[in-house]
Amino acid sequence: MIDLTDVHAGYGRIEVLRGVSLNVPRGTVTALLGPNGAGKSTLVKVLSGQLRATSGHVHLGGVHVNDAAPDALARAGLCTIPEGRAIFPNLTVAENLRLMRGDPSAVYDRFPRLRARQRQLAGSMSGGEQQMLAFSRALITDPAVVVIDELSMGLAPVIVAELYEVVRELASGGVTMLIVEQFAETASSVADQVVVMAHGEIAADNDLASVYFGGTS
Ligand code: ATP
Repeated sequence: MIDLTDVHAGYGRIEVLRGVSLNVPRGTVTALLGPNGAGKSTLVKVLSGQLRATSGHVHLGGVHVNDAAPDALARAGLCTIPEGRAIFPNLTVAENLRLMRGDPSAVYDRFPRLRARQRQLAGSMSGGEQQMLAFSRALITDPAVVVIDELSMGLAPVIVAELYEVVRELASGGVTMLIVEQFAETASSVADQVVVMAHGEIAADNDLASVYFGGTS
């Protein structure tokens, strides 16, 4: 469903992704781990069409991302939850959801906490509640592919567990998910595939210890 072959990308003369290949089958969860600066967010930008690959192929549900306009990606069912969550802090929870076309009632059933906070300004909620709202804004669009940058950043373990429950539910409903994570343990327990990135490359042996504590590079 998500398919990258020998992807190179960067900013101007700075090459960040140096030949990344990755396959995420439909209805599975892949966790993308790696230290700061490894290129994870850059990969998310390439996947979501915000940054063009300088070479290589990026396919998303049959759409060739390198050539696709952002609306074509949306039609292919892509939904990205960027780092920082991209909710509107000065709008209420209900208003944030109303901006997405769809029925919020299923979302409120899934996250009763949000139902209770419908009239609260999104920016005044806890980090975990904001991430639930970001998730909800994605879910309401009934996506085929969800890419999440930094799912658990700064969140309490109990919230992270709740969000990962939703991740599993989505995957069993056929949604394909790529999740950038800092915390190897949580991600590894939920993901079907764990991929480690370092220095703009997928670490060959996915050996977490060598990537985080030195060794192969
Ligand atoms: P983190 O976990 O810290 O977010 P990351 O793995 O997501 O790290 P990226 O954000 O993809 O890493 O950054 C990879 C490299 O690209 C870094 O060296 C960063 O400084 C550089 N970089 C990111 N964005 C830009 C940009 N707009 N212009 C120039 N260099 C950039």
